[in-house]
Amino acid sequence: MTDPANESATEITGRCYCGATQIRATQKPTAIAYCHCTDCRRATGAPVAAFAAFDETAVTFIPNEGRSVSANPGVTRTFCETCGSPLAGRYEYLPGQVYVALGVLDQADDLPPQLHAHEAHRLKWLHINDGLERIATSSRSQLLNSVD
Ligand SMILES: [Zn+2]
Ligand SMILES: [Zn+2]
Repeated sequence: MTDPANESATEITGRCYCGATQIRATQKPTAIAYCHCTDCRRATGAPVAAFAAFDETAVTFIPNEGRSVSANPGVTRTFCETCGSPLAGRYEYLPGQVYVALGVLDQADDLPPQLHAHEAHRLKWLHINDGLERIATSSRSQLLNSVD
């Protein structure tokens, strides 16, 4: 996340746990966020999830995006068909964007989150000592603004 002028010329790669699913993104993320909501916690199995938002057209899943699961209206999550790794989420209220699980990206070390969403649901014992903005509920408005 350096010079915004360079944002179009990049390649971000990733893969699931077993390697059956590869990910390529041709643009940098439009936003990166932690999500402390209980759905993300269950979907990832981790105490907190983190996602990088991309323009849907910039991301390719090879050979495909795996298994698609919709446990809540308006939200679709995808998982590697073979190993079940969480790959991505799509939200009806964030059209045109795909939220790729940060931990499956090869460049995750260079993609620091910018905010904490659903801070109100954070596990009490989980303390991430950063100065990032914390939003009690959905970060919908911030995430929408970030792509304008
Ligand atoms: Zn896999
Ligand atoms: Zn969440």
